[in-house]
Amino acid sequence: METIAHLIDGERVEAAPLGSQPVLNPATGEAIRSVGLGDAGLVDRAVASAAAAQQDWAEQSLAARQRVFFRYRELLVAHTDELCTLISEEHGKVLGDARGEFARGVEVVEFATALPQLLKGQFSDSVSRSVDVRSLRQPLGVAAGITPFNFPAMVPMWMFPIALAVGNGFVLKPSERDPSASVRLAELFVEAGGPPGLLNVVHGGPATVDAILAHPGIRAVSFVGSTPIARHVYESAARSGKRVQALGGAKNHMVVLPDADREQVVDAAIAAAFGSSGERCMAIAVLVVVGEQPGLVDEIAARMGSVRVGPATDPTAEMGPLITEAHRDRVARLIEEAVSKGAKAIVDGRAHPAAAGPGFFLGPTLLDQVDVAMDAYKEEIFGPVLLVQHADDLDEAVALVNRNPYANGAAIFTRDGGAARRFVRSIDAGMVGVNVPIPVPVAYHSFGGFKLSLFGDTHVHGEEGVRFYTRGKVVTERWPDEASEARSLHFVTNR
Ligand code: NAD
Repeated sequence: METIAHLIDGERVEAAPLGSQPVLNPATGEAIRSVGLGDAGLVDRAVASAAAAQQDWAEQSLAARQRVFFRYRELLVAHTDELCTLISEEHGKVLGDARGEFARGVEVVEFATALPQLLKGQFSDSVSRSVDVRSLRQPLGVAAGITPFNFPAMVPMWMFPIALAVGNGFVLKPSERDPSASVRLAELFVEAGGPPGLLNVVHGGPATVDAILAHPGIRAVSFVGSTPIARHVYESAARSGKRVQALGGAKNHMVVLPDADREQVVDAAIAAAFGSSGERCMAIAVLVVVGEQPGLVDEIAARMGSVRVGPATDPTAEMGPLITEAHRDRVARLIEEAVSKGAKAIVDGRAHPAAAGPGFFLGPTLLDQVDVAMDAYKEEIFGPVLLVQHADDLDEAVALVNRNPYANGAAIFTRDGGAARRFVRSIDAGMVGVNVPIPVPVAYHSFGGFKLSLFGDTHVHGEEGVRFYTRGKVVTERWPDEASEARSLHFVTNR
């Protein structure tokens, strides 16, 4: 069986100091590769290599760095099929969905090609007599990224293209469940002319992450994953003096007003709840039906019957398996818990023929009469389960959403511009959709939530990404000039 290597100094390194574990194809349940788990020694090697490469990279002209990114973008596009096949094999998502995530990742690389513009400083002429002030942004040194299984290419690409473009080195620790795509992304960066070592990939699990968090040579950590680990990463990285952005889990609500376009609502609910088997941090987990909307829930249920569940190798499949057997069983348990406490299973995915195996499949599930005290409502399910809640009016719906401790995304469906505006202003979520169920911002804006969905204060990519991976410096300068020779012992004011 193929071993997935780490990538250090542009070379594949096979090492398993903490043992290795199988990488499964979730559509069959079979082990297809194995991955070695890195330790503190391997992390140290990767950091040292990135630090050495970064010295020269940060000295290169903006245009030279930009040219690497132009070539990298072209190489990524040329390798789309190869990368998306890897994503589907190890993650399980269908090919169309893999292509979607890959394209959104490439979008960040396209944003990064604008690095000369992104790094332009500011200048204030004559803040005082003969004194000018300018600001510049400089790289931090080496940054690290720790990423989740659910977007094996896009989430790493939220991070390293920007970190590298602004002059840093980067160590990526992808999810050990589907790590192959990250290795290819890093190899293609070298093929594009990126210095070997600038972008290294070290595989592993919790111990590898802890080695990254403790490493004194890493100045900043970007994390995307579940809330408990995000909190751990935030606290440990901050304790060791690092800059940190740690994006956590989600429980996204879609609020539907009675005047919304029914057709659009039904399509949006199905796509956003069951696409990628609900394993998206921006998936819709809760449908909030406002007022009386006879037939809405039944229409969604009826449409769910046409969602084709199957492996990515079946070109007609729309929804793949869950990532592991344990996760599939956890989702099934949450469905059981809700039903046993009085929720009504309008569609029960446990009874779907695909759930009998092989692979870790579960059919789309729709639960009505869900109580907010149920675990299925309180926890992030991260599976193909849509819960239905009811609210009398918009204010009640907004209050329900805002009581939830997660605050990644939220959406409203309506034809009423005033109601939509009120929703946008009052909803406690970092990303808001108006008649758009999954409002993932484009690369030149920034992605991130509030509350338990983000620890730290900077969102990823876009301008906030540039700020996260750079330090600002402000220069106040005066050059000898007869007009500014007068000496004064007073504190400087703007004379
Ligand atoms: P996870 O938290 O289990 O793993 C994420 C990363 O942390 C992995 O690289 C993993 O190796 C590492 N890790 C796991 N346990 C650890 C531990 N005890 N100590 C240190 N490191 C550890 O998440 P996952 O299951 O891979 O991904 C799904 C989660 O990610 C969901 O909660 C989802 O909402 C979240 N997510 C959030 C966003 C967002 O933008 N907010 C985006 C994608 C995914």
